[in-house]
Amino acid sequence: MQIVMIGAGYVGLTTGTCLAEAGHNVSCYDIDRTRIARLARGEIPIYEPQLEASVRQGIGNGRLRFTNQLDDCVGEADAVFLAVGTPSRANGDIDLSQVNTAARQIATRLRSGAVVVVKSTVVVGTCRRVQEIIARQRQASDISVASNPEFLREGAAMHDCTNPDRIIVGADEPRADAILKKLFAPFTQQGVPLISTTTANAELIKYAANAFLALKVGFINEVADLCESAGGDVAIVAKGMGLDRRIGTSFLAPGPGYGGSCFPKDTRAFAATGRRLGASQRLIETLIERNEQRKTKLARRVIDEAGLVRGSTAAVLGLAFKADTDDVRESAALRIIDALQEAGITVRAHDPQAMKNARAVLSDVQFAESPYEAARGADAVVVLTEWDAYRTLNLGRLANAMRGATLFDYRNLFAPGDVARYGLRHVSLGRSAPAPSTSTAGAGAPTSSPWSRRVAANRPV
Ligand code: NAD
Repeated sequence: MQIVMIGAGYVGLTTGTCLAEAGHNVSCYDIDRTRIARLARGEIPIYEPQLEASVRQGIGNGRLRFTNQLDDCVGEADAVFLAVGTPSRANGDIDLSQVNTAARQIATRLRSGAVVVVKSTVVVGTCRRVQEIIARQRQASDISVASNPEFLREGAAMHDCTNPDRIIVGADEPRADAILKKLFAPFTQQGVPLISTTTANAELIKYAANAFLALKVGFINEVADLCESAGGDVAIVAKGMGLDRRIGTSFLAPGPGYGGSCFPKDTRAFAATGRRLGASQRLIETLIERNEQRKTKLARRVIDEAGLVRGSTAAVLGLAFKADTDDVRESAALRIIDALQEAGITVRAHDPQAMKNARAVLSDVQFAESPYEAARGADAVVVLTEWDAYRTLNLGRLANAMRGATLFDYRNLFAPGDVARYGLRHVSLGRSAPAPSTSTAGAGAPTSSPWSRRVAANRPV
């Protein structure tokens, strides 16, 4: 089938590439001409594992192409996907201007009988409104608008697109439903379940799913706080809960508060929709508030527990909102860095992939080429993203680079005993910190940095 993807960001680019891999002919269009020019050369503007090889393969076999001309592609298409941004507005609702603009741009170019598929995450009722925009522009009702929400995770986007848990098709007309079933046949033939429903249900499914996942994250963060007060260990509690199949093990790792381009925006939109329609989503309203408070609370904890004062230096390891992505949108790191800077603390930061994006939104942060360079002379180190590169840090080298003695492990990457062996105090989430050991046994253990000396050196003066 002939497919056009409007918007070649995380979702459009990945989905377009997957659909080309599935055997369709896909044209990706974006208003960002530089992005399209780079993509046409096989250069990927985002960090996403496996994506580059698949894009190059698609370009090579002619199934995937990139264009900045709508007239080149829309008129031939059986289905035109809208995968443009839907950012938050101040009241929590989403800004649909990119969706509406894209709909107007394609309206008169579509061939009669084509289906427009809203891939962007949109509030309930949007597909119907997009259908009205297109019908008004064309002065005809020969185009169906369907919903096909996306559930991919950044960092595993290609995997998730190729092996989705389910495909949701929201269509209010049988013709659109039939086109989408044909389009997704390469997936359903492999056993992927497809739920065919109304556009309203499809739009609601996306928000309800993300709100529920965010709730799991918020819940385990609060359980982690309780474990700290009660002398428990959140890892064991989460495992004991998660092995119950009704609960499941995923999204039960404590952290510095969820971030990213989806959970914060989608929970706000879900809550705003509830308010607008008189069906208030109190659980989600509370979750949003608690998640934001968590970021500032954990920044305060760094200051208090490491004894930081105006002029101290903190090394922040991890800027991306999670591992395996360069996306820093609403990352907990941004809020925590802000709070540290407000307290007069100098921040030196490192991330394996996200420093370019972080530079665009952070000011007065020193960016380091390695985690060890970030830690040089730092009074505290704060780990905020669960990169594998940080799990395998040489803690001896890190400890020796630091001036202070506290490692804030806000992703629970390290076993408590491992950190203490290097003379560092380990502050992790949801477990009681063990007393630091004075033993220096083990390869790479420090020979001259006992905890007490570091703490003394780090005291506010
Ligand atoms: P993005 O910002 O990475 O990409 C959006 C792209 O759309 C940009 O490249 C932009 O230039 C382009 N664009 C904007 N207006 C356009 C127009 N009129 N014509 C052509 N291109 C246009 O955003 P994203 O992360 O890919 O998200 C897109 C949508 O998918 C959002 O609604 C988001 O909530 C949803 N979503 C995102 C994810 C994710 O993990 N990123 C997952 C599921 C759903």
